[in-house]
Amino acid sequence: MKYDFIIVGSGIIGLTLAYKLKKKFNNSKILILEKEKDSIQHGSGRNSGVIHSGIYYEPGSLRATLGVQGGRELKEYIKTKRLWIDECGKILVPTSQNSYENTEQLFARGIENGVVIKKLSGEQIANLEPNINNKYNIGLHVPFTSIADPKEVSKSLIGDLIDLGVEIQYQEAVTKIEEEGCKIHTVNSTYECTHSFNCSGLHSDAIAKKSGLEFRYSFLPFKGKYWKILDSNFSLKHLVYPVPDLQYPFLGLHTSHKKNGDFFIGPSSTPVFGREQYDWNTNFSVSEAITIGFSFVKKIISNENKLRTLALQESRLLTKGGFLKEINKLITGINKKNITASNEKVGIRSQIFDPQSKTLVNDFVVINQKHCTHVLNAISPAWTASFSFAEYLIKFSKI
Ligand SMILES: Cc1cc2nc3c(=O)[nH]c(=O)nc-3n(C[C@H](O)[C@H](O)[C@H](O)COP(=O)(O)OP(=O)(O)OC[C@H]3O[C@@H](n4cnc5c(N)ncnc54)[C@H](O)[C@@H]3O)c2cc1C
Repeated sequence: MKYDFIIVGSGIIGLTLAYKLKKKFNNSKILILEKEKDSIQHGSGRNSGVIHSGIYYEPGSLRATLGVQGGRELKEYIKTKRLWIDECGKILVPTSQNSYENTEQLFARGIENGVVIKKLSGEQIANLEPNINNKYNIGLHVPFTSIADPKEVSKSLIGDLIDLGVEIQYQEAVTKIEEEGCKIHTVNSTYECTHSFNCSGLHSDAIAKKSGLEFRYSFLPFKGKYWKILDSNFSLKHLVYPVPDLQYPFLGLHTSHKKNGDFFIGPSSTPVFGREQYDWNTNFSVSEAITIGFSFVKKIISNENKLRTLALQESRLLTKGGFLKEINKLITGINKKNITASNEKVGIRSQIFDPQSKTLVNDFVVINQKHCTHVLNAISPAWTASFSFAEYLIKFSKI
């Protein structure tokens, strides 16, 4: 059977894309090919679940426009489906002199991106969240920011897609997209369609290359590890974040929580040598480690985009002591007895590097071939942005 659309990857981008395609072309035949046994093995099942407001991103960028619009739509979807959401809002505080100096710029970006945001004095912060380390006596309050359960959202979307007649084939790894004739080759079979979308997250660049797409970017995965707070009396009313260094795509260690009341702090942003190397002994491939490791070492030695500085900074978070030192700049009262490294939460960012500008790419990247649209660099806030991102992909692909 020939499909109208085939989507590679059933992470949040693949699922929302199928949802939007079906809404726009309701008679279309859509197939999603997924290599895993379900849709939540990678980024979309391993993130913080934070619905971002859009304050961080360069005005006019895809992350800013799709993030702001997508966040509203994701909230609406979650509420309509009666899924769990905590509309707790977020407080950001500076945690170093550098971060203090970035506070005004972050505030200005938020305003420019149309986000409701308020400056807080030290006294206001202390009243709202007494456990925040309030060293710089200034903070920002973003009421929109919320937290939800990413696994629950994916599960709900899958139910909708099945009802809409979308087919999802699990354990069907795509090996290559053949542009000519729009043939999708998997380990088991070959499928045909009119247009395909490569939404394979950590593997998007590799699939794009195997499909003959030429681009200058290289892949640099960064692992995000979380720590769980064991003290059952620990509680925060808001999400608490540091004011980050805006030159990097990472937001810094922050709090998150689950419906059951568990609190976490993370994620770190440590370079890792495998696309799916969630711990040292899983999914380890020598050839992949050599390619990625060589690429990292080269950039770290030349300190491109201050990657050496970042790697050193992040390597301190690998030990409990180093992590505590960093987190105590944000929150007081956390000590080595009441935290533990979380095995249930660890994720890897599908980050790409631009050799031309010598920087970590700080926006979503989408590239069209005649019959295929490739999503590269679906970094945070792609989960927040997903519904709008999906609409953008449909428009961009010119189908
Ligand atoms: C630690 C961490 C925290 C984050 N926190 C947030 C947050 O709080 N808020 C937010 O908005 N964003 C957050 N993000 C970002 C967000 O999780 C991602 O941007 C988003 O999940 C990307 O979705 P995706 O569909 O592109 O990728 P994925 O979820 O990785 O989906 C891609 C899918 O493609 C499949 N696949 C890969 N190769 C093949 C193949 N060859 N054949 C078939 N299938 C294939 C994979 O198995 C996978 O299921 C975070 C990310 C990380 C890593």
